[in-house]
Parts: sequence; structure tokens; C-alpha cells
Amino acid sequence: MTTSSRVAVCPGSFDPITVGHEDIIRRSLAFADQVLVAVAHRATQVKQGLFSVEERVAMIREVFLDEPRVEATDFTGLLVDFARDRGATLIVRGLRAVSDFEYEFQMALMNRQLRPETETLFLAPHVEHSFLSASLVREIGALGGDVRPFVSPPVMRRLRERFASTSP
Ligand code: ADP
Repeated sequence: MTTSSRVAVCPGSFDPITVGHEDIIRRSLAFADQVLVAVAHRATQVKQGLFSVEERVAMIREVFLDEPRVEATDFTGLLVDFARDRGATLIVRGLRAVSDFEYEFQMALMNRQLRPETETLFLAPHVEHSFLSASLVREIGALGGDVRPFVSPPVMRRLRERFASTSP
């Protein structure tokens, strides 16, 4: 990317990427030339999650095969350090409901304290996605429910494989 292009980071756990995440990432393209979807390694998290970080990154790549301006990667350490290293000036987060607000507001102000050059942008998803979370998708999928409305086909394929291999 040239120095004049605007780079945004969409950070998260993406375990797995849902249509709600996709909505926010696609909306980010209106504000940025390049969007880095950054899967966080949580060194402090004991529980491993449903998918490995590598699998999550691979799924994001599959979902955005048609969009060269979206890049999927993982990162460790502070988000603001990752943003600085990649020349990103925007952090994009989705706000689903008031319940998201307190944590997101705190994080945005802390990230500004750590690196004032990085601005946080909050985007609202389509109302149809406002109740959706990756944790609900994992739970419904594990219990045998239909999660097709909530994830793209590449993610659905992996969810089927994962639950087929873990069901009794
Ligand atoms: P989740 O809460 O689904 O596990 P992440 O921790 O991966 O998601 O969050 C990454 C970002 O995506 C956060 O800013 C979160 O608010 C946002 N996000 C997650 N699901 C949705 C959704 N359905 N609509 C809008 N934003 C969302």
C-alpha cells in the first residue's frame, strides 16, 4: 500500500467469522482502501476455542476471496502496536447493542491513550445481524441447530466437519 492509502484494522476472535462480522468488514471498505481482518491470539486465554487461529484466518480468506482489499492475518500483543507496524490509522469495531457499548468505549479510550494516532470507528450492522454472535453460532451448531443463515458457505463446511468429528 502507498503512504496515502488508508488502512483499517478489524480485530476480533472470529471463532468463526459470521455474516455479522462480514457486514462490518464490507462496510469498512467505504472508509478504508485496505482492511486488515486481524485474528487475536489470546495468550491469557486458557480455553482454545472451536477453531485454531490458523483455521479462523483461512476461513476469513475463503469468505473474502472476491475482495482483494481485504486481508486476513493473525496478531499477538497490543492491537495498537500491530496497527502501527501495518501502517493502520483506523480500528473498526461493530456495535450490536447497548450491551457492547461499555466495553467498546473503554477499549477505544485505552487504545487512544496508548496510541493517539489510531482512531476507533464504530459501525452498526444491518439490523438482521444485530443479535448474532460467534459464541451463539458455536453453541447452536454444537447442539445440532441450523446455522446456515449466520455463516457463509466456506464456514458452514468447516462447522459441519468440526461437529461431525466431535459428535458421539
Ligand atoms: P464475537 O462477539 O461474535 O465473538 P469478536 O470477538 O470476533 O466477535 O468481535 C469482533 C468484532 O466484531 C467486534 O467489534 C464485535 O462487536 C463485532 N461483531 C461481532 N458480531 C457482530 C454482529 N453480529 N454485528 C456487528 N458487529 C459484530
